[in-house]
Parts: sequence; structure tokens; C-alpha cells
Amino acid sequence: MRKPFVAGNWKMNLDLASARSLVEGIAKGLGATSKIDVAICPPSIYLFPMAKAVAGTPIALGAQNCWSEPSGAFTGEVSAAMVKETGCRYVILGHSERRNTIGPKDANGRVAGESNAMIAAKVRAVFDNGLIPIVCIGETLAQRDANETESVLTSQIAGSLESVKPDEAKKLVIAYEPVWAIGTGRTASTAQAQAAHAHIRGQLVERFGAGAANAIRIQYGGSVKPDNARELMSCADVDGALVGGASLKPDDFVKIIQETISANDL
Ligand code: PEP
Repeated sequence: MRKPFVAGNWKMNLDLASARSLVEGIAKGLGATSKIDVAICPPSIYLFPMAKAVAGTPIALGAQNCWSEPSGAFTGEVSAAMVKETGCRYVILGHSERRNTIGPKDANGRVAGESNAMIAAKVRAVFDNGLIPIVCIGETLAQRDANETESVLTSQIAGSLESVKPDEAKKLVIAYEPVWAIGTGRTASTAQAQAAHAHIRGQLVERFGAGAANAIRIQYGGSVKPDNARELMSCADVDGALVGGASLKPDDFVKIIQETISANDL
């Protein structure tokens, strides 16, 4: 059985004091051990202090991004090796905000953010530095309405995972995050989530074979809250959650973790 994995994406929120008290609250709520994998992903400038804050707790650390090259003239970026040095285990890559929101806008207000090829290069750097990528994929509302969900997921998987070697595949984490559900309060129904996750699993089987594909954790992300976590986490191909807003509230985040444990009969 795949061990469920719940990660909190803090995005660009919190000051250092509130970050410390958030970790304290989560650790208190979790206790000494956790039956599932749990991680927090703070802004990169907080990774070193958060590594201290999670020491001795079951909480692992993840970064929200890194750059693909090992060093050089990349002002403002951090390499995978730098992220590794902080004590991180995971790196979120290709979040929809990095694909679609962050960056200069064209005349129509559209941002051409990170491409699948850029994400594949980052995935390579992350694995080469002994870290685990959480690769985000997901369709926009317009793409869902145009019946393009499966083709979008297929091409994001093909492009973003192009650099993954067969023996690394089972370590991968995929986060299915429908863009229309991120930070909007709208969630995918269990049927929509399971259908998308099953499609992703099928693509992973084609790419890496059944053995590896069945070991890969596929998180659901998009307005996961304590009151919808249980049903989403009960879906056969949903192996945990990537949580944004609710991960900033210790009680909500802990409750989502508890619901994930119950939903999986652990
Ligand atoms: C996210 O940031 O990846 C996310 C899913 O956010 P939210 O839970 O707030 O929708």
C-alpha cells in the first residue's frame, strides 16, 4: 500500500515568528509520530530556521521551488544542492502559480511561466541532489470546460517527467491540482478527483510500468479543508494532499492529516 503523504504549501505567507508558532502548533497536534508522511513547505528564506523547528517531530521539510542549474549567474534563485543543505527532503516543482501566475504578462494579461521542459530540468536537478520532487499538474477551468483535462494531464506528465530515470520513478510524488480549485474554495468532486488520478496513474503505468506507477504517490490539491478531506482522501488513487490555505492554520492542517489517516484505515 502507498503511504499517504500530506504536505502544506505555505506559499509567500507568514513572518518568522508566526512560522515558528505554526510548526509548534502542528507538532503539538500530531504528537511524537505520524502514521502518514507529513511535510511543510515554507518560503525558502525560512528553510534553515524551520529545519530547526521540525527537528525531533514527524514533520519533514520541503521547498516550494528551486532552479535547475547547479550554480552561476541566476540572481535570486537557489539550487537544488542549496535546498538540500537546509535539511529539506522534498521540493514542489511546477506549481500552477509558477506555470501560470508568476512572471511578466503579455498584452492579453497572460503569463507564460514555467514550461514542462523547465520543470523536467528541475526534476533532474532535484533527483541528482537526493531530493524528492512533488511535481504539480492540473488543468485550468477553460481546459476542463473544453474537455481537455485528460490531454492536458497527459502532456504535462510527458513533458515534466521526461527527465525521470526508470529506477527513480517510484520515489516521485505527483500533485494533481486543478487550477480552478486552488485557493478558490471550489474542490473537485470525489468523482472528478478519482477520474483524474486514475488517468494520471494510467499514464504513469505507460511511462514507468505498473510496479513503479503503483508505488507513486498522487496527492490531490485544491481547497482541501477539514470538512472535505475525508471523502477526497478515500478515493482509491488519491494518496494524500497538497494543502495551501488550510496548512496555515495548525488545527485545520492537523485535522486534514487525521482525516487522511482515518480515510485510509491506518
Ligand atoms: C496549493 O497551494 O497548492 C493549494 C492547493 O492551495 P489551496 O489548498 O489553498 O487551494
